[in-house]
Amino acid sequence: MQLKEHKVTAFGNYINGEFVESKSGRTFQNINPANFDDIVGTFQSSKEEDVEAACTAAVAARYEWANTPATKRGEYLFKAAELLSEKLPQLGEEMTREEGKTLPEAIGEVTRAINIFRYFGGEGARQFTYQVPSERPQVLCYTIRKPLGTVALITPWNFPSAIPAWKLAPALIAGNTVVLKPASLAPLSSFRLVEALHEAKIPKGVINYVTGSGGSVGDALTSHPAINGISFTGSTSVGDALYRKVSDRKLRVQLEMGGKNPTIVLKDSDLNYAADILINGAFFSTGQKCTACSRAIIERPIYESLVQLLLEKTRNLKIGNGLNTGVQIGPAVDSHQLETDLEYIRIAKDEGAKLLCGGNRLSGKEYDKGYFIEPAIFSDVNTKMRIAQEEVFGPVLALMIAEDFENAMEIANSVRFGLSASIVSKDLTRVHEFINRIEAGLITVNLPTAGVEYQLPFGGTKESSFGMREQGPQAIDFYSETRTVYMRYAQ
Ligand code: NAP
Repeated sequence: MQLKEHKVTAFGNYINGEFVESKSGRTFQNINPANFDDIVGTFQSSKEEDVEAACTAAVAARYEWANTPATKRGEYLFKAAELLSEKLPQLGEEMTREEGKTLPEAIGEVTRAINIFRYFGGEGARQFTYQVPSERPQVLCYTIRKPLGTVALITPWNFPSAIPAWKLAPALIAGNTVVLKPASLAPLSSFRLVEALHEAKIPKGVINYVTGSGGSVGDALTSHPAINGISFTGSTSVGDALYRKVSDRKLRVQLEMGGKNPTIVLKDSDLNYAADILINGAFFSTGQKCTACSRAIIERPIYESLVQLLLEKTRNLKIGNGLNTGVQIGPAVDSHQLETDLEYIRIAKDEGAKLLCGGNRLSGKEYDKGYFIEPAIFSDVNTKMRIAQEEVFGPVLALMIAEDFENAMEIANSVRFGLSASIVSKDLTRVHEFINRIEAGLITVNLPTAGVEYQLPFGGTKESSFGMREQGPQAIDFYSETRTVYMRYAQ
């Protein structure tokens, strides 16, 4: 598919059931990272007063929404899912234009957001609590759930539809009103979720959407006294600072942050299969997944043969504008991320790692209009190097040799992160050992480190995550409070 001409549209905030300009009237542009001539839209540069209006609306809507039956709340999610499905091709194209991922990846992500709305719509009828026998006669003991009140949802640019969806849907079904602040680099995909809920006639004030920089909108939102809970996904540095700032208020906080995810390849593996898994995990979506594989830990006997296969396959990857048919890898999301990728490539070389392929910014023809970079593979990496310890968030794979399974486990666990991890092997005993001992919240076997499903809990361990899990039925736990009832039914 070739690029089309697009006219620039201005998108508002969504406050108290209306699409409105920011009070200052200032806006910012959302620019396609694969084609600088393509302005995807303009969005509101909001400030504290816009956050104030959103929080006021959310507080006013709390009581009625919390007292709406959960199955009725679910109907708004079902309806919004239907409306989004009707626009799937358009929404996929918009996501590719604002984030850069390929069109099939974008369509897959919007489909996932739709499924998340459907899944949590159904959770309206399944918000389980429990009753247990009492020690006392004629006494009932049981629990009920109550929503937190108003929650702040702060999301990153790399899954601009799925992440807002997997925060919005459980927050709403549990009876909370919300204020969503999307990433400034990709606000359109979540705007479309909000628009669908508006068209589904969700009551005014239940969802509010405010765009603007993290330093102004994000900061004002997380400081606002009306906020009873914060769900944040983004970088470890912003998540850490946010937690430090709100911890005195004892707010319920959920932080999903960075990763340094390993794939262990054992010597019994089918090498062709293993190479495909590594390439998928490390390079698809330009390595810009929190669950992307950035460390391949390979047993020595297969190391050389696997590296040859990896190089061959990586050199054949098609890099370009994600709207074009056959493209497998799009651009970095912006100049800052591209510079971070290139900087880590310089650091890795300086520290003694050997660049086997890629690592350059691409130029010429369509590449001059975007932030395109060749996927990079480094050998001779050891656990002390920054490339083995720090999240790059780009298409950069570090290869590390393991002498045996024990050594592979040691290397895999030698980082402060613990989001996802995978192993490629047919040896069931080793696979089970890996599952027991790997320090990661998401564990995959003979699959890439990335590629999760919405009906299961999502989250990491160590410094990757803090607080309760997202997605799956457990997501409701974060957005609701358990209250315990003791009732004597006779006097
Ligand atoms: P980021 O820079 O931390 O931003 C995340 C969100 O926080 C954005 O909406 C940002 O707004 C906002 N923000 C920035 N400063 C803030 C502040 N002082 N107070 C409140 N909010 C603030 O992260 P990103 O670059 O968008 O995303 C990439 C990172 O997300 C990577 O580290 C990746 O690993 C992580 N991630 C983790 C998961 C997971 O589930 N573990 C999933 C996806 C991504 P602006 O956009 O306006 O700056």
